Amino acid sequence: MGTLTGRTALVTGGSRGIGRGIAERLAADGARVAVHYGSNEAAAKETVAAIGAAGGSAFAIGQELGVPGDAAALWEAFDRQTDGRLDILVNNAGIGASSAFGAIEEAEYDRLFAVNTKAPFFLAQLGAERLRDGGRVINISTGLSRAALMPDVIAYAMSKAALDIFTKYLSKVVGSRGITVNTVAPGIVDTDINAGWLRGNDEAWAQSAALSALGKVGTVSDIADVVAFLASDDARWVTGHWIDATGGSLA
Ligand code: NAP
Repeated sequence: MGTLTGRTALVTGGSRGIGRGIAERLAADGARVAVHYGSNEAAAKETVAAIGAAGGSAFAIGQELGVPGDAAALWEAFDRQTDGRLDILVNNAGIGASSAFGAIEEAEYDRLFAVNTKAPFFLAQLGAERLRDGGRVINISTGLSRAALMPDVIAYAMSKAALDIFTKYLSKVVGSRGITVNTVAPGIVDTDINAGWLRGNDEAWAQSAALSALGKVGTVSDIADVVAFLASDDARWVTGHWIDATGGSLA
């Protein structure tokens, strides 16, 4: 029996990167996991198969986020494969880069906020009635919402800063039901989102590692383990909190 046996989790963007790490960890702890993806169905199937091979339980849900009606459509797909109830919502899916201040145009700005801010808001709003009392909402933000370490990603950081304050407010809205709401803020993690500039670039890798007090680039399990703690009963008295999971990059 794992600590999450009998519970159901939805991890948005659970098919790849940090979300995959979270999905695999929650499944290893006993949860049945809905592995959400946007367009890459093969990656979601691979994650579901990996969870199954490790003795866990998972299923895939495809739904593009950042488009009108996205949250309602995702929950309808979730309802078709479950009894319509869940215990853990992880808002992880996100767009990770943005153009610099002088170059970003309205369409890109709107898309960032639609995916990173609006989608988690309405997923939580429509998910609240599905969440069992004592449930969990965990939002994945970034250390960049607290410090202008990379000025070029100004709009991305803003979209996540809005998510941070959403965490605090939502914790007050649903707290009477024993539901906790927290943010986990990763630093630089080796995933596809950073592939273009980080992987295979020794200088960028060394600079990224040096940003962390621990002298390394983060792994998906560095983040998934923090999420697993927040999802567990041990974290029942932690809510409205922003957890720095940057390896000390902001220290
Ligand atoms: P990733 O490797 O690019 O994976 C992104 C995941 O989100 C995929 O499952 C993708 O599904 C899904 N997704 C992205 N846009 C979507 C959309 N519009 N609609 C539906 N699904 C969408 O990203 P990651 O590095 O794991 O990042 C995960 C989260 O951590 C993001 O919120 C990011 O901002 C945050 N974060 C990452 C880092 C880092 O260094 N990696 C640092 C701080 C914060 P498809 O492949 O099917 O589109």
